[in-house]
Amino acid sequence: IRSRGITEVECLVPDMSGIPRGKILPAHKFLSGLTDRGLRLPESVFIQTVTGEYPEEDIIDEVDGDIYLRPDPETLRMVPWYEEPTAQVINDCIRRDGSPVDISPRHVLKRVLARYEEKGWKPVIAPELEFFLVKVNADPDYPLEPPIGRSGRPEIGRQAYGIDAVNEFDPLFEDVYDYCDVQELDVDTLHHEGGAAQMEINFNHGEALSLADQVFVFKRTVHQAALRHDVYATFMAKPLEGQPGSAMHMHQSIIDMETGKNLFAHDDATETDLFRWHIGGLQKYLPQAMLMLAPNVNSFRRLVRDYNAPINMHWGRDNRTVGLRVPFCQPEAMRVENRLSGADANPYLAMAASLACGYLGMMEQIEPTKPIKGSGYTKAHALPRHMPEAIDRFAHARKLQDVLGENFCRCYAAVKEAEWDAYQDVISSWEREYLLLNV
Ligand code: GLU
Ligand code: MG
Ligand code: MG
Repeated sequence: IRSRGITEVECLVPDMSGIPRGKILPAHKFLSGLTDRGLRLPESVFIQTVTGEYPEEDIIDEVDGDIYLRPDPETLRMVPWYEEPTAQVINDCIRRDGSPVDISPRHVLKRVLARYEEKGWKPVIAPELEFFLVKVNADPDYPLEPPIGRSGRPEIGRQAYGIDAVNEFDPLFEDVYDYCDVQELDVDTLHHEGGAAQMEINFNHGEALSLADQVFVFKRTVHQAALRHDVYATFMAKPLEGQPGSAMHMHQSIIDMETGKNLFAHDDATETDLFRWHIGGLQKYLPQAMLMLAPNVNSFRRLVRDYNAPINMHWGRDNRTVGLRVPFCQPEAMRVENRLSGADANPYLAMAASLACGYLGMMEQIEPTKPIKGSGYTKAHALPRHMPEAIDRFAHARKLQDVLGENFCRCYAAVKEAEWDAYQDVISSWEREYLLLNV
């Protein structure tokens, strides 16, 4: 911080929705604060709904006491979009007695990773982020529109893999890649996805915590870069009618911490027991964990037939119509792609949930179903179809709660219940149009 002449530090805490909260302070205060108890926030920072309100029932200590921020030096980065040299750092949180704040999403992921570590296993994750670029729109009653350009005309704009269509946004992506460079975000390819002005950027594979941190920083980065070009970037799961939704696919595998070998494949490329059981666990437990992969009322609109989004827990080889795709690959890269989570998912919680389900499968030696051939859309819809169903399944998922932490699960379900109640209170234009005089 001193050698780079940094004047300000942003202390970030990823909240339940995965967006940054925290405090900004002069660099010298940050440095002196490291020796003191450090910065504080109220614990309620973790139980806000997306509307900014809090659940009615008391789910945390009613006096809403202070928690203390603990910066993780591994996450110290420059913030590229300010003129003044500014740094950012992601924080863990502890209570006054030094115990971790167990409802912090970053803590929940660490807790799951500790279960793997006990077994000598280390998960490897490669996330893929889809998002739409849309015209700046300040009126929530007005449907979103793609920005100008080839992509701006929805009738011809659905340019999956179109190079020229991406190039129309070249100055914006120059900024995205420059910002990623400065922040050492390990991004890989960019392509145009199947919606009008829908883009995807993939990350290189790596350790789960680091990748959750990177996705957290990345989403903010894309928002910022887009704003500089007068467009919005949205990670909403289903922003436009009649268009595909946006996913956050997660490729996952496990390596042996001692040998560094991929535990999903033998040297002769045959699949291991752990590989099958991991898939078995994903199949059995992900529907119960769906609230962490599809966290918003809007998330469930994405999970419909025929947009390459999954509607069930089948698995298949090189098959994009099912929830779990196993790409053809060399033994060292053997992995499963979890296609369930929306781009709107909190990366810490989506990874924690997916790894917890796979872990339970390996511990319980759950055999998966047979891989399916052909379209997965001919099979039944087997996932929660809306938020109340997802909340209900999550609230009864005892084994999952044991891995994720019961207190976290109780608070998370209460926050989501409050969001559902707020949504129920809103009467949409569709209802007014079709029900006002027709019933
Ligand atoms: N956009 C699709 C979804 O919402 C995924 C498209 C793909 O990458 O196959 O899941
Ligand atoms: Mg994609
Ligand atoms: Mg994918």
